[in-house]
Amino acid sequence: MSTVVDTLRLTAEEAIGLVERRELSAGELHAAYLEAIAERDGELHTYLRTVDEAGGPGIPIALKDVISTRGVETTAGSRILAGYAPVFDATVAARCKAAGLSLLGKTNTDEFAMGSSTENSAYGPSRNPWDPARVPGGSGGGTAAAVSAGLAPWGLGSDTGGSIKQPSALCGNVGLRPTYGTVSRFGVVAFASSLDQVGPVAKTVRDTALLYRIISGRDPADSTTVELPAPVELPDGERLDGLRIGVPRQAVALEAIEPGVREAFDRSLALAEELGAAVGECDLPLSFDYGLPCYYLIAPAEASSNLARYDGVRYGPRSEGETYREMVERTRDHGFGDEPKRRIMLGTYALSAGYYDAYYGQAQRVRTLIVREHREAFERFDVLATPTSPTVAFPIGEKAADPLAMYACDLLTIPSCLAGLPGLNVPCGLSEGLPVGLQLIGPQFAENTLFRAGHALEQALGLDLVPERLRT
Ligand code: GLN
Repeated sequence: MSTVVDTLRLTAEEAIGLVERRELSAGELHAAYLEAIAERDGELHTYLRTVDEAGGPGIPIALKDVISTRGVETTAGSRILAGYAPVFDATVAARCKAAGLSLLGKTNTDEFAMGSSTENSAYGPSRNPWDPARVPGGSGGGTAAAVSAGLAPWGLGSDTGGSIKQPSALCGNVGLRPTYGTVSRFGVVAFASSLDQVGPVAKTVRDTALLYRIISGRDPADSTTVELPAPVELPDGERLDGLRIGVPRQAVALEAIEPGVREAFDRSLALAEELGAAVGECDLPLSFDYGLPCYYLIAPAEASSNLARYDGVRYGPRSEGETYREMVERTRDHGFGDEPKRRIMLGTYALSAGYYDAYYGQAQRVRTLIVREHREAFERFDVLATPTSPTVAFPIGEKAADPLAMYACDLLTIPSCLAGLPGLNVPCGLSEGLPVGLQLIGPQFAENTLFRAGHALEQALGLDLVPERLRT
């Protein structure tokens, strides 16, 4: 069968239109994506597994493999969950189904969403569609690369410290990390529960808003969720009049930001001004000095607790042992890769008696100051802007052996995550032929403002976000 639609360019909104107008059946649409996957995913490895029209055909969607899907293997990129097929759907997966979406497959992720490149996946890395020698970012690199390569119209990721925003930046997608508490985590494999958020990755800001509308809102099964204070609006304006954009001095001063990234970022701010926005500077000194170390105490501490449940009894494969203790030890030794082990050790140490106050307690206090600093910035500005990632996509292998270099990928995305704030990545240009992302941060529940700003910039920029090597 020849391809009926160009999945590289088709937005989810257009796909919905085609099906509604009966120009294409949902089954044909689903088949077109499976065909694209068969053609290109051998090289890119964005999917861990695909599904043939699970639950009847609808508008296709890809879900990061940390999201439980009933009867479909869900591994979180770990060997310790190999073969585990949940007996229930995560609330976000159920909401997608209820909205008429059909699961295309489960996308690759760093093991337990720990990483910035997918190189920590137990099943091998995904590759960047713009240059397969480079990483797609992480941990949600599978979803981002799939959307960018036309292997899914849109998808869901999860973001603890940047795992939606950073891969979206590196692959040239729009990605939203929603306000903490607006999207259910019920059935989502937990990494660091005070930070984890599920959110959409798509080709356009409007698609992102549409998907956020589907997944957000109070869920009785997740007591951390709330109802949105206002309905999600699909943005359609072209101007930014009256919008006050704050640029954190300490963020743009970071030496780690590549010149090409800085240029694209500066150009997008100039464009925002042309569209009517007022751009000014603000100060977030603690956020960019202490955000990263603060995160790398809190996230591993929570992870060490969350990962305690993988004991060979409840999920996945079990190693043999003479005693219960030996069985658990061997199962965890074989099942976990280096990065989860590193974080379990770091986190257990930070939480241990005698050190708790010096590390975990101190990090929590710093976190409160970071929350305060952001709140003060939003007294003067509607949104904050930084580059999303200090660099463009880096070569596979470049940082894999250096955990600290990998951690630094999230220097710019982490502070607002600690503060529970929403962040939107909007592609803002190319550097060395690779996508650069603009990060827009808003106060709690300001997703509509982010969508409005992101949409106006996206329209004015008019970038072609199909990876150059895949254009026909
Ligand atoms: N790269 C960061 C980490 O490794 C963030 C990951 C995430 O957001 N899940 O923790």
